[in-house]
Amino acid sequence: MFNLILFGPPGSGKGTQSERLISKYGLKHLSTGDLLRSEIAGQTPLGLAAKSFMDKGQLVPDEVVIEMISSALDNNPQAHGFLFDGFPRTTAQAEALDKLLNQKGTSIAIVLALQVSQEELIKRLLNRGLTSGRSDDVNEEIIAARIGEYEKKTAAVADYYKKYDKVVFVHGEGDVDEIFGSLSKEIDIRDRA
Ligand code: ADP
Repeated sequence: MFNLILFGPPGSGKGTQSERLISKYGLKHLSTGDLLRSEIAGQTPLGLAAKSFMDKGQLVPDEVVIEMISSALDNNPQAHGFLFDGFPRTTAQAEALDKLLNQKGTSIAIVLALQVSQEELIKRLLNRGLTSGRSDDVNEEIIAARIGEYEKKTAAVADYYKKYDKVVFVHGEGDVDEIFGSLSKEIDIRDRA
């Protein structure tokens, strides 16, 4: 199995690059944001609980997303590998993920961290808000809250994986194909499965 984390702040291009990476490398895409939005659409108890946090630009509680990822791993026993997008977002989530993967006899091979300036992030998110239908992309205050959560709680996840020498930073501004090329190159160096 080859498991990777695509890491970066909101608006750094994780969703866009994930789509390409899963099709090139045959990975199963696990985006906690997408999973949560589908829970909301289905009006499940989990979705209803998560919505109030998401509407404010705050992180959903760890136990909720960890449980969701745990089920997703169990539901995909045939996967050749997973691409985690938007997860883990706290050190507690990273520790939980390591445990879950360990139980399945596998681990994270690499954390690809997209680097984008704050000015560019805000521009992209507001722009996405014009068409995405995502209410958290329309309001500048909510966008600022999401970036604040990233800095306060999520940036530390990179430090966690640095201890294991798993983090590679990739410049996330400019041409989408070029960024995809940089990400692919880093995977190809390590993917000997
Ligand atoms: P973006 O990367 O643009 O913020 P996502 O779709 O990844 O978009 O996340 C949208 C929202 O879903 C977040 O602001 C947060 O409220 C919630 N969320 C997604 N993933 C997680 C997670 N791993 N832990 C906690 N909350 C999460």
